[in-house]
Amino acid sequence: MHTTALTAGAICPFCGQRYDAASALDGDAIPGNGDLTLCMNCGEWAMFDSGVPGGLRKPTDSEYEVIVANPITGKARKIWQQMKEERRAKAKAPKLSIDQKYDALTNPDLTLDKQFDLACEFAFTNPPPDQARPLLKRMFLLGALVLTNRMMTSARQPDPRRAAREVARLLAEIEEQTIGVLGKAKP
Ligand SMILES: [Zn+2]
Repeated sequence: MHTTALTAGAICPFCGQRYDAASALDGDAIPGNGDLTLCMNCGEWAMFDSGVPGGLRKPTDSEYEVIVANPITGKARKIWQQMKEERRAKAKAPKLSIDQKYDALTNPDLTLDKQFDLACEFAFTNPPPDQARPLLKRMFLLGALVLTNRMMTSARQPDPRRAAREVARLLAEIEEQTIGVLGKAKP
């Protein structure tokens, strides 16, 4: 999917949402007059039209008939609906108390990756240092375990040269991410 910056911006004629970029559903098409777009906010179809304020207009009745008959637009709309429902479900999910979060991240039934994600989330959203310190420690240990596990899996390749290549690739990835994160933090 290719995203194009909309220099003039665009405003959804249905809900008023402003956009400064658009992504092509297929290939790297650049939106132009008469092209169709799906508003990510309200899920309505609009047509690019440089002749109207906001750069987008509601489709005419005949355009709308073509839109609803097209299988690609139907699929896009379905994906949008799924995303919207997922977002709604996420917003509705109950907020966990600190104790509940701690229980969740020490739950041995969760995979290490999941525990690590929870620990990261927890450490970042719970600033009191006394509470955060044991969690940060746990997070680092979990991180080390997860990475060691991945490294062991890579090293267990039957072909030793391939194993060495995969370990090297993994190390490069870890280094890139570590430097990426540490580079932004103050020493
Ligand atoms: Zn809209």
